[in-house]
Amino acid sequence: MHWPRSGWSGASLACSCSRGLACDRPAKHPLVRHGVKEATTDADRIGRWWRRWPQANLGLATGICFDALDIDGPAGLATLGELQEAAGLRLPGPLVATGGGGWHHWFRPTGLGNRPPHGLTHVDWRGKGGCVLAPPSRHISGRPYQWVRDLDQAPLAEVPAALRRLLDPDPPTTARPPRIAGPDMPGHPYGRTVLAAELAALGRATPGHRNHTLNRCAFKVYRYVAGGVLDDQDVTLAFTTAALAIGLDLAEIARSLASARTAGLANPRTIPPPPDASRQEVGS
Ligand SMILES: [Zn+2]
Repeated sequence: MHWPRSGWSGASLACSCSRGLACDRPAKHPLVRHGVKEATTDADRIGRWWRRWPQANLGLATGICFDALDIDGPAGLATLGELQEAAGLRLPGPLVATGGGGWHHWFRPTGLGNRPPHGLTHVDWRGKGGCVLAPPSRHISGRPYQWVRDLDQAPLAEVPAALRRLLDPDPPTTARPPRIAGPDMPGHPYGRTVLAAELAALGRATPGHRNHTLNRCAFKVYRYVAGGVLDDQDVTLAFTTAALAIGLDLAEIARSLASARTAGLANPRTIPPPPDASRQEVGS
């Protein structure tokens, strides 16, 4: 990739390409004609490139050995933080601090292409056909890309399910009931039925009532979490996914779920007694 070099004034850095200070992608575009399509692991070829351009920035093709979650500065971090809080998301793998003030989380390849995750602003996904700059490349600001956690400290991990769902090329829409966790989801069957019913009710909520419906439905379900019938994180994840699918944003979702959870956990409900028992009570 092109790299930042001192301008004639010496004051600011310019792209190493012929456009120099006027370049609109300074130090971030390929030196080779076909860009990422020429990415290679051929040591001889890479060696020739290094000898020709010893100061080059290092562009790595994504979608082959790894994919990257590209977080654009503090705004992207705030968005991701909300998802982490709402879904109990952990991102323990390799992490790069970019020279531009952002971050790249590296994951095992998903097979997906470049796309912004649904509902996350200032965050992008680099997969097949994509490319990221890697340490020790330098940003046009002069600051280097640096490892926060390198591959020796933190091996590549699978993309967490809560994040993977946001990358789904065909997210659930209001026309279909929101997809809920599969049959392997922990929790009592009665609790899962309650959860499915409330997720379906949320899916039917009309614009203007969605946030309120989320709060009301989640409250009912969190009561069963308090009663030990359902798993806390699974419920949060299911509602977060369903609420994103109907177009609520993460900040709203996080607020609604937090208040529903607090209220629900304070009012535990357990599985009702079987019908036989209640008939006997009525008959006696
Ligand atoms: Zn340039």
